[in-house]
Amino acid sequence: MPTRGYSIGMRTRLIALAAVTVAAVGACAAAPRCDRLLAGGIVHTAAGAQRLEIAVAEGRIAALVAPTDAAPWRRAAAEVVELRGAHVFAGFTESHGHLVGYGAALEQVDLRDAASFDEVVARVRAAAAGVPAGSWVFGRGWDQNLWPEKRFPTHDRLSAEVPDRPVALRRVDGHAALANARALAAAGITAATKDPPGGRIVRNADGSPTGVLVDAAVGLLDRAVPAPSAADVGRRLLAATRRLASFGITEIHDAGTTRDELAVLRATALTGALPIRVYVMLDGSDDVLLDQELAAGPQVRRDGMVAVRAVKLYADGALGSRGALLFAPYTDEPASRGLEVTPEARLDAVVRRAGKAGFQPCIHAIGDAAVARVLDVYERGLGARGDLLRPRVEHAQIVRPQDVPRFAALGAIASVQPTHCTSDMPWAPSRLGPERIAWAYRWRSLLAAKAHLCVGSDVPVESPDPRLGMWAAVTRRTPQGTPAAGWNPAEALTPAEALAGYTTWAAFAGFEEDWRGVCAPGFAADLTVFDRDPLAGDPATILQAHVVRTVVAGRDAFVAGSRP
Ligand SMILES: [Zn+2]
Repeated sequence: MPTRGYSIGMRTRLIALAAVTVAAVGACAAAPRCDRLLAGGIVHTAAGAQRLEIAVAEGRIAALVAPTDAAPWRRAAAEVVELRGAHVFAGFTESHGHLVGYGAALEQVDLRDAASFDEVVARVRAAAAGVPAGSWVFGRGWDQNLWPEKRFPTHDRLSAEVPDRPVALRRVDGHAALANARALAAAGITAATKDPPGGRIVRNADGSPTGVLVDAAVGLLDRAVPAPSAADVGRRLLAATRRLASFGITEIHDAGTTRDELAVLRATALTGALPIRVYVMLDGSDDVLLDQELAAGPQVRRDGMVAVRAVKLYADGALGSRGALLFAPYTDEPASRGLEVTPEARLDAVVRRAGKAGFQPCIHAIGDAAVARVLDVYERGLGARGDLLRPRVEHAQIVRPQDVPRFAALGAIASVQPTHCTSDMPWAPSRLGPERIAWAYRWRSLLAAKAHLCVGSDVPVESPDPRLGMWAAVTRRTPQGTPAAGWNPAEALTPAEALAGYTTWAAFAGFEEDWRGVCAPGFAADLTVFDRDPLAGDPATILQAHVVRTVVAGRDAFVAGSRP
């Protein structure tokens, strides 16, 4: 099977790295250039955890040195940082997030844990008081499944409490929104408005909109919102990257970078102000952007802060809003099989174009029908070149048994979000029914079938905190510990696999495994430093560990206790 070549290659490389590590520890001749020495840490290398000093030069790990051999390096170092027994890991990568969306979310009313619609209204009313009359108020994170009635809300109470400012509140999965009367008016959404293709305007019995818009219908609202300025985008980009760094994230795979965002991102990177690396997946709905970037070819370089070599598309919606595309109807809504967000012919065309230009296709697919369709698209469009392009199935949440082995056969990567599993498990069984629920969040099945995985959070849908991701991956329990035995625990990852999901596997998913993802000489000095080993012993340690320092290209992107 051609795809095995990569794994075997990776494994061989890791063994070689381990040998290099030992050699560097043993040999300590003349110390060359050393910008920083990170001393006194326990360094987690491919060969295990060891007390080693990390010599950094020009953004890379110059050497890993036993403490007894470190004196020359200490003398040569322009700076010595004492880590005092902290645990140093290869820098974590968030494999699927929405960077500027996260920055915007940080500015929005946070509705994630609102336990009732009344609480949503109260929080929005309080936030609206700080916004000039007429300006939009944005909120994010509501989830009707957490409320007593467990039904979509209607806009009436919100419109009564906030009558003078347009309000747009995204559901927790981003695939539905609630608008108040001012926002519906601004968007021109009335009883006469038709549902757009791939979307739904939820209506009262008389046909008037309830205020809830699903999938493509959210676009009707988005179009009425004044476009963010470059300054808005830049501010959100920096806020998001800084916050990610505080969670130990050294790189994010941005799942759908727009033309404006890419321009701001490149400009920010040029100034040196970007604290973490960004792996760009171009917004595949924008043909102007695709024309421009595909013609230029992949923009990647070793040690670079911004890589452009991937294209993001959406096959379907999300499970929570019943937008995930299923083969058979939703168990709890027999009239619906979900939504096709991008026509299959468009997926085919963009994948072929991207493949020809050497770009990696990354397609959002949550429902079993969407996953199968995306695998079909990869099979038709890439064939044997799958291994070369490492096409990704973003989310890969519900996978039929017969589709599990196709990932490895096609060289496709499953880009999974463990916290989606633990957030969705209370209601996913009612959406899918008893047979299909066994096909959901099936990480172990995919690994057993030799598929490549990478791990992320889909921030801002979930918190990007990798402790939460590793906890969910290893325990399949909520952070509160339920259910006690874990939800379908046979599909859980081991602690080592959860760590790999954020490091070596993520590096592979971004074609960076030859310079990022492990602590080894010659590799990027991207490091995530915890106050303890989160993966040793009881899984509870994962949640108790704290990030004390995040290093990107040898520079501090975050230091606990210091001002941002
Ligand atoms: Zn996403």
